[in-house]
Amino acid sequence: MNADKLLTQLHGLKTVFDDKESELTALDREIGDGDHGVNMKRGFNAVDDKVAGGSTKEVLKQTGMTLMSSIGGASGPLYGFSFVKMSDAANDEIDADNLAEMLEIFSKTVADKGKVEGGEKTMYDVISKSADVLRETGGLKMEDLQQLAEDTKDMIATKGRAAYFKEKSKGTIDPGAQSAVYIIHALGEGVN
Ligand code: ADP
Ligand code: MG
Ligand code: MG
Repeated sequence: MNADKLLTQLHGLKTVFDDKESELTALDREIGDGDHGVNMKRGFNAVDDKVAGGSTKEVLKQTGMTLMSSIGGASGPLYGFSFVKMSDAANDEIDADNLAEMLEIFSKTVADKGKVEGGEKTMYDVISKSADVLRETGGLKMEDLQQLAEDTKDMIATKGRAAYFKEKSKGTIDPGAQSAVYIIHALGEGVN
């Protein structure tokens, strides 16, 4: 995946999050404040508008800055800062090995910034396992990523707004886990 392809994949997330807005809103209404659909839609509409080009590093950094300033909520700084951090590791041509490296950084950044571990029912439960999926299966198939999001259903949230729901957070996929599926899938498509 060169810079042009990366830009195409990131711009493509505008359409994905336009389509998935109501799904993410519904999940966040169950265990949050119902804005995750709008937040992600606003974020990737801004990426489509504002991120114009440059090297892979520049594209990722601009994407992160744009997400940080447009998403708001808990997810904005987590996704935004992660893209800025991933830019450090990106090669001019991102292959599967390089993408796995970037996903490790994504995971580490969310862990550090969110002070989160696995099993707390957040985006981290998808992000932290994605590099292994890529290495083990040679790709990032939607069904494999979706399974990681489904796995958050039975978890009890201990981070973010969902934590207020305690036991009642059980039975719903975490909204950020679901949005992470779409972001990581789009990056994976770029290296295939
Ligand atoms: P807000 O909760 O501020 O309304 P969003 O609805 O956009 O923000 O994002 C909620 C998502 O953010 C959650 O579903 C969860 O995946 C993620 N999240 C919240 N807090 C944390 C945290 N400390 N670490 C990792 N992810 C988190
Ligand atoms: Mg919310
Ligand atoms: Mg909110």
